Amino acid sequence: MEQTYLSDNILEQIKDFGYYNSLNEEQKLLIDKLILNEELKERYKMYDLCKECKQPNTSNDWCQLCNAKHFQQNFKNWTSGNPNVDKLIQKSQIDAKNNNKILEWIEYDRIENIEYITKGGFGTIYKAIWKKGWISRWNYKINQWDRTGNMVVALKSLNNSKDITMEFLNEINSHLKMSNSYRIIRFYGITKDPKTNDFMIIMDYAPGGNLRQKLNRDFNSLDWKDKIFTLREIARGLYDIHKEGLTHQDFHSGNILNLEYFGNSPCITDLGLSKPANENFEKRDKEIYGVLPYVAPEVLRGKKYTQKSDVYSFGIIIYEVFNGLPPYYDMPHDEFLAIKICQGLRPRFNIKVPQLIDDIFKKCVVADILKRPTAEYLYATFDQWWNEIYKQNEEVDEYNKKLPTLVNTELMYTTHPQAIYTSRLLNFNNLLEQKNEKNAVYSESIEPIDFTQLNIINFQGKY
Ligand SMILES: [Zn+2]
Repeated sequence: MEQTYLSDNILEQIKDFGYYNSLNEEQKLLIDKLILNEELKERYKMYDLCKECKQPNTSNDWCQLCNAKHFQQNFKNWTSGNPNVDKLIQKSQIDAKNNNKILEWIEYDRIENIEYITKGGFGTIYKAIWKKGWISRWNYKINQWDRTGNMVVALKSLNNSKDITMEFLNEINSHLKMSNSYRIIRFYGITKDPKTNDFMIIMDYAPGGNLRQKLNRDFNSLDWKDKIFTLREIARGLYDIHKEGLTHQDFHSGNILNLEYFGNSPCITDLGLSKPANENFEKRDKEIYGVLPYVAPEVLRGKKYTQKSDVYSFGIIIYEVFNGLPPYYDMPHDEFLAIKICQGLRPRFNIKVPQLIDDIFKKCVVADILKRPTAEYLYATFDQWWNEIYKQNEEVDEYNKKLPTLVNTELMYTTHPQAIYTSRLLNFNNLLEQKNEKNAVYSESIEPIDFTQLNIINFQGKY
């Protein structure tokens, strides 16, 4: 039988050993001889033994076995009032191999200084202080959790979630699965708004707002490095999602948040959550939710949502990061636009972009999903470009010194009153089947340039 715990005999022999790195050669050889199970050996080497049960920890300061018991002993002391929500939280706590993977039921009185931020398609976002913050480790000396201390969080109140469905809870669970990715917004727990009885998700607060807001604010001062870096990081998050076998399903610049106000740290949110919390999936089979300019034509035509539909949305985000202006901001987001997208319309660059960017944008938004690249390819590609640019960094910095300082002025544009950038039900019927890809109408971009052939410094801030 597979060895999943260290036997008493082994524990007796190593009980006085400290951290693996502090052992002498003889002791290290003994460890290799005694612990045959690779996972257990690895856990001991990396995380040491649990102070309570003496088995190897499952991550830093975390023993799944002992902490599951600590959580279980507390199950009787709380309830969300909804058995399914309770089950979701309890399961996360029992299964957690580290403290990133736990959800907590958070009583509303542990939240203070609540400030309204904005309304999204299916909920309202607030900023607040979470008193005492999240669990970092079990303190076995005083038999309670150590917490990180008061922290600023975002609260997302889910409209009509009093009757939250199992399907929606599964989406929260998928989001939780992604908590090891540093490019996905972290969920900490669930609370309930006492006024509306709606459930609220407690998550990372993003002081830099969303990507759209960042582009409005900073586009005129962003250089090539910033844009390639932003897209590399977003591609990384999307790749992490796809590696787990998941799809985002509402990928647009409003769902990419910035964890820093001044810095550049894009982080994806609302994975699978852009839909009503109280509707069953069967009922919605034919319903499409999203922000029209980012929704792939096959999805508009009622086909199944796939990872390649997320890649289409990423293509539109490439366009937006390089173009600055939102896609189709000057026209109504109605059935006519949906039909045109199905017929091959794509947004047009109205500034010069490198040939490579134009090419990868077109690959992502091609109608034939089999021709679209994978998120893994996109991440590898932007990573390679980032490294190229980084190598030229010194030269670029030298060149920048000679340029007049880029002015940081807000982008000026007026959106059409019927251009809608929050997620909603897209209720278009009878959209035309796109018969032939040759029909695709790529709006002309202004003379694409090949930036492999030219030194990147030639483009600094010049369009
Ligand atoms: Zn333990």
